Amino acid sequence: MKIFLKTEDEIDLMRRANRLVGATLAELGRNIKPGVTTLQLDKIADEFIRDHGATPTFKNFPNPFGEPYPASICTSVNDIVVHGIPSDKVVLKDGDIISIDCGTLLDGYNGDSCYTFAVGEISYEVSKLLQVTKKSLYLGIEQAVAGKHVGDIGAAVQKYCEGCGYGVVRELTGHGIGKEMHEAPQIPNYGSKGNGVMLKAGMCIAIEPMITMGDRKIWMLPDKWSIITRDRKPAAHFEHTIAIRKGQAEILSTFEEIENH
Ligand code: MG
Ligand code: MG
Repeated sequence: MKIFLKTEDEIDLMRRANRLVGATLAELGRNIKPGVTTLQLDKIADEFIRDHGATPTFKNFPNPFGEPYPASICTSVNDIVVHGIPSDKVVLKDGDIISIDCGTLLDGYNGDSCYTFAVGEISYEVSKLLQVTKKSLYLGIEQAVAGKHVGDIGAAVQKYCEGCGYGVVRELTGHGIGKEMHEAPQIPNYGSKGNGVMLKAGMCIAIEPMITMGDRKIWMLPDKWSIITRDRKPAAHFEHTIAIRKGQAEILSTFEEIENH
């Protein structure tokens, strides 16, 4: 599969799409509290994205069975790792965690980012999982510079998370991103240094560690979307879209508004 290198003009458009994802996640963060349903969050996100002239990329995105995704964001609570479908039956409660994955298409280019939020007060154990998963994302980004390899990113994420006693999900990966939400190459969260595709300036990729508190093994639920940990222990997921550059990657998505509200 061809890897597209983006021009500065294209990266500028990617930055705008990704800033909108960051703003959407922040808007959702302001609404996360015990008693709120994940379907309510989906409605907020859908309206927010469309009000800003974009479309939610996830809506109608096909799964491997060719079935369209029924919502505008993924809302994965506790032991759901990714692709949790918003529902009026999922009511957030104190002590939950919720990963919200969001994608927007704005002026022909994609944004994609995910943040795991705490609902009310969470245990020390779970907050450590969130902290480690987020840090592993930034350790991966540190490796994502021109001249390094895809394996350097995965190796950094894997070493840190496994060193903390957590599981690294292998069946799902990060990805190239641009005009399509999923482009080549795949960006696994495990690997070895110096292996895989060499990174070049102008490549845009999404790095997204999916980290489990217990075993890394997962199932798919009968809804053919939700991915759940087999041992039912919680999982966290953080994602940034970045542009590869010489020396240091540029992070196109942002958690700033989420964390400074
Ligand atoms: Mg995503
Ligand atoms: Mg992604």
